[in-house]
Parts: sequence; C-alpha cells; structure tokens
Amino acid sequence: MSEEVSFYENKEVCRVCGGECCQYAPGKTAPEDWGAPNIEIMEFVISRVLTATDKWRLRKYFQSDGGYLYIKPSVHNDKVGYLGPCIFWDPDSGCELIASIRPYECRMLIPGGHDKCELADGMSTVEIVRLWEDYQTMMCLWVEKHGLTVYED
Ligand code: SF4
Ligand code: SF4
Repeated sequence: MSEEVSFYENKEVCRVCGGECCQYAPGKTAPEDWGAPNIEIMEFVISRVLTATDKWRLRKYFQSDGGYLYIKPSVHNDKVGYLGPCIFWDPDSGCELIASIRPYECRMLIPGGHDKCELADGMSTVEIVRLWEDYQTMMCLWVEKHGLTVYED
C-alpha cells in the first residue's frame, strides 16, 4: 500500500450509527490495497493472506461483460456468503482495523449517518470492482499457481 492513503473517518457519526454498513457486508478492497501496481508484491501478499488466514475472500463479481475477481473480508459465521457482518466488525469497538489499512471501499465511504453516507468521488460499488480489471489475467494465474479458492458473489 502506498504511504499516502486516503480515508474518511468520523468516529462520532459511525458510533451513533452502530456500524450499519459493516453489519450489512464487508467493504471491497482495491488492487492498491495489495501493493498494486507492483505485480510481485501483489502476488506475494495476496497468495499468503488468502492461504494463511480465513479473514479474506477472493470473490467473483459477475457483470454483463464477465466476472471480475476481487478481494474483500469474509463474513462472520458464514464461510461462503458475502452478505452479513464483516469479520473485522466488533459490536463493542467497531472496526478492528485502523483506518489507513481498511479496504478501499471502507476508506472511501464518507460517514453521514443512516442513508446519508456516500462514496467519495461518486464511485459506485461496481466501479470499485472494476478497479481490478487490469489484474484479471494475473489473478487467474495466481488462482492456479497458489490453489486459491474463488467464492462467487
Ligand atoms: S460509514 Fe455510514 S453506515 Fe457505516 S458506520 Fe459510519 S455512518 Fe454508519
Ligand atoms: S473492514 Fe472494517 S470498516 Fe470495512 S466493513 Fe469491515 S469492519 Fe467495516
């Protein structure tokens, strides 16, 4: 991850909300969260994280133009589904991760309270998945090479 990491954190607003977004589904990461554009770092980090812990999932997001492989945290009490409380969410203390190392979608969400939170730059969730577009060929190779499991959205 680059040293200049953007995030929008407002603990007061999120404390009142109680983690509505985190309880619905984990946020999506972007390639930069894993060392992009450096392919060697990406392969090293992704292959180890996905095989050494149960906290992250390699998922396939289907669009009309095909499926996009991307990574997001796993869900509490559900090893397959993608909806549900994020594995890093704690009912008492909120997100276990410091703001600068949270998934891209979490960092880009500007807290506004119930129904008033927006992704910075007006990005949609699909546009975040498409940030992975240039890495799809490499990701497919890593699935084979490292025996990674792909979970479908
Ligand atoms: S980002 Fe928004 S939905 Fe998520 S906890 Fe904060 S206020 Fe609630
Ligand atoms: S990583 Fe943290 S901020 Fe993002 S969904 Fe999970 S608990 Fe919420």
